[in-house]
Amino acid sequence: MAFVTRFAPSPTGPLHLGHAYSAMLAHDMAQAAGGTFLLRIEDIDQSRCRPEWEAQIYDDLQWLGLSCQQPVLRQSQRQHIYAAALNRLWAQDRLFLCTCNRRDILQALSAPQEGVPANFGPDGPIYPGTCRDKQIHSAASPRPDGVLRLRMDQITADHAAMQSGSDGFSFQEDGSGPAGETGLIRFDARYLCDHIGDIAVCRRDMATSYHLSVVLDDAAQGVTHVVRGQDLFEATKIHVTLQWLLGLPTPIYHHHSLIRDDQGKRLAKRDDARALSRYRAEGATPADIRRMVGL
Ligand code: GLU
Ligand code: ZN
Repeated sequence: MAFVTRFAPSPTGPLHLGHAYSAMLAHDMAQAAGGTFLLRIEDIDQSRCRPEWEAQIYDDLQWLGLSCQQPVLRQSQRQHIYAAALNRLWAQDRLFLCTCNRRDILQALSAPQEGVPANFGPDGPIYPGTCRDKQIHSAASPRPDGVLRLRMDQITADHAAMQSGSDGFSFQEDGSGPAGETGLIRFDARYLCDHIGDIAVCRRDMATSYHLSVVLDDAAQGVTHVVRGQDLFEATKIHVTLQWLLGLPTPIYHHHSLIRDDQGKRLAKRDDARALSRYRAEGATPADIRRMVGL
């Protein structure tokens, strides 16, 4: 079976040990399988991305000895693809316009009649459905006053009808989730509605979101194996749902454990102390980095 994987960093800060682990693992797996290792620059959020961070990514990967096949895909050049997918979902009545802000959502979730505390999913607080039936007219383009959300209940009902009664979505996990989930991971309509909800597929300032662009790009790059951190395990359920909606294949997933600091906290971009460039400046070699992350 073909093996195509990718490393998909956002140029919003320096790559740290956690990124190095993810990239080296994906690269090693591709090499062992005689496959392909691709790079994708996830720069949809132009307000946070910087060209110097992107340049540093190429530099760090080269230093680590991770060569990737050309061309490198840059999300900022694919806005028209994301907009087209959004239009299609809108035309298929899979979306609704939501004009709530975060405070409205939290308030609705903690309102006395709801009786339950705010529930959080992989995309933030689970949307309480306030705008779902308002039928606000709009085009499928970003508006400063709202976002487009998935009609999750309708989507899961249609999926169940098409699967003749079985309402399960699934994906193959070759690594493991944060609670050790591995093998065939199944989740049903109930789970999607209760734990994920009507997630937003675009932002107020752009005609896409992380979830929408990642599924379109994995498909466009022919990715067969997604290797990434366990922090994205839950989000995979969103991705599988979007893949079904958009008629895209679901790759095999390999979620890996996260590299943590001495206090057990996962590394963040602002953790400059763990930046690869810093270790490099202090004389570390790529072999030292491999040892540090346990590869
Ligand atoms: N751009 C994401 C990040 O840097 C990774 C997305 C993915 O691997 O699916 O966390
Ligand atoms: Zn709303």
